[in-house]
Amino acid sequence: MKLAILGATGSIGQSALNLAEAFPDKIEISALACGRKVGLLAPAVARHRPRVAAVYGPEECGQLREILIDLGVNPLPEILCGPEGQISAAAQSGADVVLSAIAGRAGLLPTLASVRAGLTIALANKESLVCGGELIMPLAAQSGAEIRPVDSEHSAIFQILGGLSGRHIRRLILTASGGPFRGLKLEDLEKVTVEEALSHPRWSMGQKITCDSATMMTKGFELIEAHHLFNLPYDRLEVAVHPQSVVHSIVEYHDGSQMHQAGPTDMRLSIAYALSHPERWPLLPQSPNPGLVNYFPLELPRYAFNQWHGHLTFEEPDRETFRALALAEEAGRVGGTAPAILCSANEEAVDLFISGAIGFTDIIRLVEQVMEALPAEALTSIDQVVALGHEAGRLTKSFSLDLRR
Ligand code: NDP
Ligand code: MG
Repeated sequence: MKLAILGATGSIGQSALNLAEAFPDKIEISALACGRKVGLLAPAVARHRPRVAAVYGPEECGQLREILIDLGVNPLPEILCGPEGQISAAAQSGADVVLSAIAGRAGLLPTLASVRAGLTIALANKESLVCGGELIMPLAAQSGAEIRPVDSEHSAIFQILGGLSGRHIRRLILTASGGPFRGLKLEDLEKVTVEEALSHPRWSMGQKITCDSATMMTKGFELIEAHHLFNLPYDRLEVAVHPQSVVHSIVEYHDGSQMHQAGPTDMRLSIAYALSHPERWPLLPQSPNPGLVNYFPLELPRYAFNQWHGHLTFEEPDRETFRALALAEEAGRVGGTAPAILCSANEEAVDLFISGAIGFTDIIRLVEQVMEALPAEALTSIDQVVALGHEAGRLTKSFSLDLRR
């Protein structure tokens, strides 16, 4: 396959590059894109020689060019910048598969371009479907684009379904680790620090999603994603807190059978499956090498069934303390522009929290305020999503001035 990796310098992007190293006869890189970490992108460009490299802005463009010349890369790839560059890297680099792994709303337009181009999209970026799922899913049906989930919970469901459609599902149970603050109450959350919020007990991920896991907004986003991906109403979607993060989700079929997917907490498994579906590539050390050229075994940890046997627990989420989950569910049910407003306000508020401007519980306080200030409307275009995103971001900043410490 010809693969474009958007967000190549991030946690998901680096895992995907690791897979590209392991399976050089399966993956040819046609584009690599990132934001500002050009120093991390350059060696990958030198190694994989994509046709296109895309970065944040003109300054990063110049920096990348210089580093690549120093590294002796000749010919240079086409180096692009800005949102247009990300879009071209996705849809005009000759890729047939796009790994959409930019963090946040910046992932929306490149994902949309890949969908319009009828490509296969390995979708990690949650914000695309949260903000624009009502538009993206019908577009994918029109263009023939295939959206394969990367997020571990949706990958679990995708793996369990094995090609069956969502209509076979009676109920989905998304598992949640509960994040670093599981068991705490609202008054405890008032005091937590940025460092504590950014230490996830199970998964190593980018800052924004780690913070979203601490508020449990991420699980709310995942409910909205699951609603779109599997075409299921919200009353068939549930969340179970499962602190061991071994079972990645559960599908209940209409005949009463419940299928659980379990595995290591390593995103390379779900990224690889999104690329290899319906096949599976050998990821474990000592897997038999089915004739792969230059194959090197990955160091994927193995899910040790015996170790966990008797220790797996599932509990109801605390929606009162982790109000984000209830808020996202509500926005999903309302539909239209509500999830996009939620998502944009949340992104701005998380940035403010990480920069130390507001407290942890202020994140959801601000999101609620913005949701109240901007009533939901019917969703008619992506331009509307983008404009609302700016407005929700602006309002979040402005409301935060009353909270600043
Ligand atoms: P990271 O923060 O680790 O990486 C984000 C990537 O996006 C970086 O390459 C960054 O570039 C790039 N980026 C950010 N803003 C822009 C922009 N404006 N233009 C171009 N590139 C940009 O995030 P993760 O890898 O953890 O997550 C990526 C996405 O996948 C998120 O939407 C997340 O919710 C989702 N996801 C992640 C999981 C995980 O385990 N990490 C699990 C499930 C979903 P740079 O750093 O160079 O500036
Ligand atoms: Mg997840």
